[in-house]
This record gives sequence, C-alpha cells and structure tokens, in this order.
Amino acid sequence: MTTINNIETRLFHVPLAEVLSDAKHGDHTHFELVTTTIRTTDGQEGTGYTYTGGKGGHAIRAMIEHDLAPMLSGSDAREVEALNEAMYWHVHYVGRGGIASFAISALDIALWDLRGKARGEPLSVMAGGAGKTCNAYAGGIDLGFSLKKLKSNVEGYLAQGFDAVKIKVGLPDLSEDVMRVAAIRNLIGPDRKLMVDANYGLSVEQAIAAAQAFIPYDITWFEEPVIPDDYDGFRRIAEETGIPLAMGENLHTIEEFEEAFARSRLSFIQPDSGNCGGITAWMKVAGMAREQGIPCCTHGMQELNVSLISGNGDGGWLEVHSFPIDEYTTHTLVIENARAIAPEAPGTGVTFNWQKLSAFAI
Ligand SMILES: [Mg+2]
Repeated sequence: MTTINNIETRLFHVPLAEVLSDAKHGDHTHFELVTTTIRTTDGQEGTGYTYTGGKGGHAIRAMIEHDLAPMLSGSDAREVEALNEAMYWHVHYVGRGGIASFAISALDIALWDLRGKARGEPLSVMAGGAGKTCNAYAGGIDLGFSLKKLKSNVEGYLAQGFDAVKIKVGLPDLSEDVMRVAAIRNLIGPDRKLMVDANYGLSVEQAIAAAQAFIPYDITWFEEPVIPDDYDGFRRIAEETGIPLAMGENLHTIEEFEEAFARSRLSFIQPDSGNCGGITAWMKVAGMAREQGIPCCTHGMQELNVSLISGNGDGGWLEVHSFPIDEYTTHTLVIENARAIAPEAPGTGVTFNWQKLSAFAI
C-alpha cells in the first residue's frame, strides 16, 4: 500500500509572447496551468497538470481542492484506473465532462507519474512501448496574423525541422481562407503535410463549401469544422466532400468519444490527455481508435503527449501546440528528422521549473 496523504494544487496564469487568435475562442493572451502534486506515505511524489486557454483555471483548482483531493486522500496510489473511475462518478452529477474532466486529468496524470517512477518506466513504455519517436506537426494559432506574418510563422516551423504544419481557418470570407491555404501550400511545397482547423466556427453548409474549396491543396485533415456536439454534421461533411476530418480536443468523456466514432466518420481522433480524463482515458480512446482503424493523435501538452503517441505506435500525429508549456519544464520537446522524441525519464518525463513558473502563480 502506498497511501496518498497530501495533494498540492497550484494555478499559474502564463503570458503568451504574442496574441494568438482562432475562429471561435477569439484572442488568447495567456494560458492557465493547473498542477497537482500527489505525495504518498512512503515518500514518493508525482505531478500532473492540465491547462486552459486562459479561463476556467480557478474552477478546476477549486474542484480538485474541495471535491477530488479529499476523496483521493487515504487511497492506494497504485490503483490508478479504479481511482480514475471513482473520480468520474464522484463529481458526475455536477460536472460530467468540462471542468471535471480537466480536474480528473491533472490528478490522473500525477498518479501515472507516480506509477512510472515506482516501476522505473518512462510513459512511452507504459503507453505500449511501441517506439520512442512519433509524427509531429506544428499547430499555429494564427487566424489573426496577416498573410505576410502567417507565411513567416510557417517558415519558422520549417526552420525548426517540422515537415507538417496546421493553420487556422474560419475567416468571415471563405475566399480569404482559401487564399491563405493556397499560399501556405505553395510555400511548403507539395510533399509536406498541411492541416487546417476551424475551431468549430462554421455551419455544416459553410464547412462543406470550405472543404470543397480546400481539396485542391491536399489537406491531410480538416479539424473541427463545426461544433463538436454535431456528430452527424461531421458525417455529412465527410460524405459530401470526401475530406478527412479530425476532432477530439472538445470531447471530454468516453461516451462522447463513442458517439464520435459511431456517427462522425472521422479519419483522425485527437484526445487531449489534459482534458479527456487523463492518461487513463487517453489510452481507452487509443484502444477504441485501433478498433476503428483510425490513428490516435493528440492536442496540446506536447511534452507529455509525445510519450503517449510514441508508445501507442499507430502512426498518430503529435500536435506541437502554440501554448509553450514545455518552456516551463526542465526538458523542452526535441524534434529530430521531423519526428518528436519521447523523454526517457521514469514517470511522465515532465518536471516543472517551479522557479520559472513562480512569477505567474495565482
Ligand atoms: Mg484544434
């Protein structure tokens, strides 16, 4: 028995280097980081975390401190899957999905960090051990950038060694989106991968028109064209245009992923271990994706998710997100030969630089 006897939760409001914008969430000036450190009676310690686009962090911290941490206190930290299930039902009535899933994710990740340290295993091994590297793409939050700045931003990604990039779409005038997609395809050449992301800013009809207009530019996937709740709308877009579709960053329960797999004709699924219920839930979704024959990708938290995709080994894509959480850790993400490298340290491989973060503590 390794008993949980202390849980420390911290909230940070971290400024971005510049304002980042997308179709539905508008401007981002900060991201929030909520960290949880779980300590056990035998002197071990594991840290998990989640993040937001700048709103909701206080509620996540409050749910951890008032509801989930007291429930976990005194439990055996090794019972990760059972504790994940117990947390889900503990707050289900008030918090199915949403805030609850962010809070559960942070705690679940801390439990996996403890498990990996106890076993002496890195997360890539615990996630299946298929490999140590994975496909990676740079995900821009660039809808507010002028065309000139968009191009120089993508040139920066290529200079960092990426051969796959994603840009935002969803401007009021479709012809402007098409012009930007065409310009970036022209810039990166025919062989690199190009994805687009509308952050559910379109109607089904608008998305069908956009998908048809994007097809000449060889789009690897069209991400979140419409609201995540419109599972059948996704299917209509796929059926009417043939464009590959992706979503997952806004699916927060296993039941929502089941609906998406059953109804949405997705070509890629993108669970975020920071908001789908943690590593435990991410691995469940990866199992469902394998049954469907769809690559399991990720959203955000590249410093941790690199290990899940590498270990899972189904050819999924790591999003290297524009929120640079890894700059506040002791090991920034490594890209080599256009692939991301999973860390070797036991546990999640994510150790925060608390001193660097301390300036942004709330
Ligand atoms: Mg997205």
